Amino acid sequence: MNFVRHHKLDVIGVLETKLVEATLPKIMRTWFAGWKYTCNFHMHPNGRILVLWNPATVILEELDISPQVIHCAITCKVSSISLLASFIYGYHTVGSRKPLWDNLISFGENCSLPWIAIGDFNNVLNANEKCNGKDVTSHELKHFEECCVLTGDSPLLKRIFEIRDIIVSKEGTTELAIANLDRWFAGENSGCSKAYEYFRPRGTPKVWANEVWRHYIPPKHSFILWLGIKGRLQTKDRLHYMDIDQNCALCGTAPETLDHLFFQCNMTNQVWLQIKKWLCITRAMTTIKSALKYMKKEARGTSWQSCAKKSAVACTVYHIWTARNRRLFEGAVVTSDGITREIKTQVYKIMFSSYPHVLAQYEHLALGH
Ligand SMILES: [Zn+2]
Repeated sequence: MNFVRHHKLDVIGVLETKLVEATLPKIMRTWFAGWKYTCNFHMHPNGRILVLWNPATVILEELDISPQVIHCAITCKVSSISLLASFIYGYHTVGSRKPLWDNLISFGENCSLPWIAIGDFNNVLNANEKCNGKDVTSHELKHFEECCVLTGDSPLLKRIFEIRDIIVSKEGTTELAIANLDRWFAGENSGCSKAYEYFRPRGTPKVWANEVWRHYIPPKHSFILWLGIKGRLQTKDRLHYMDIDQNCALCGTAPETLDHLFFQCNMTNQVWLQIKKWLCITRAMTTIKSALKYMKKEARGTSWQSCAKKSAVACTVYHIWTARNRRLFEGAVVTSDGITREIKTQVYKIMFSSYPHVLAQYEHLALGH
């Protein structure tokens, strides 16, 4: 604790603590009074990752917890600066570490906030970094290297890897990919047009990446929205292997799919109608992707009104998801009016902190009129 005080630490990650979860409340009371914690002890013996923070100075939101990494969003209460932090403790074998790299690549794919990934990877990045034990094989380095490039900040390297993968997957093998490159540049002045034709985008471009992580959208809202777009929210239709009632947790009248829960459901449909009316949004939205498209195309501006609209869409997705979880896991009574009130209050608070002078006169909005 002296170390913590001396260095004025506000967030701490501790690895391989060998503690059990039941002892944490006592340790916190004794050494870290007033602090909060999160851990992944329930996922692995030996107490692998413990994160502690001082809520008087920082706001820490847990975004995702898995056996080898805890992702958090941290906001400094003094400066209001936010960043993402991932506390990592990698497993000891190449195969068991693979989910860690996939997780990091997936997490890093769309976050535009500053991101720090720290901890013990149990993996060197360069053969020279290891001094004892067996020599490092290229097989051991490969996943970490790719992960660094794909999550790192070198757009050029990132793009080169992407292009390599596109060509190899289109052609089938590395040899055929190289042969293809040779063909493009065999004749004079023909390489560029052939390459352009090869890569010309034909599908629908991703319209959402830049809209998800914004200063006026709290990181936890961004995260749920991002999981929704990627189809990774665990609605009941994705849990078909479990013996549970498949009907929507909110209305109970139709199977719980992503599109039903967020748009077709009578209860959430009412929520959207009220929020759209409140902010004068006229666009029809029937899927999370179409909602994101709206954020991109219709609310392009930077005025407080358009930020409020974009913030409200993310906030609505988040509150529908948490209301569903409260109903499902805690048996709580949730109503469309209740969810709507929470969204309005939260959007108002977010907007008030960014535009206090403009919004003081709109206080009645928070009260849901
Ligand atoms: Zn429903």
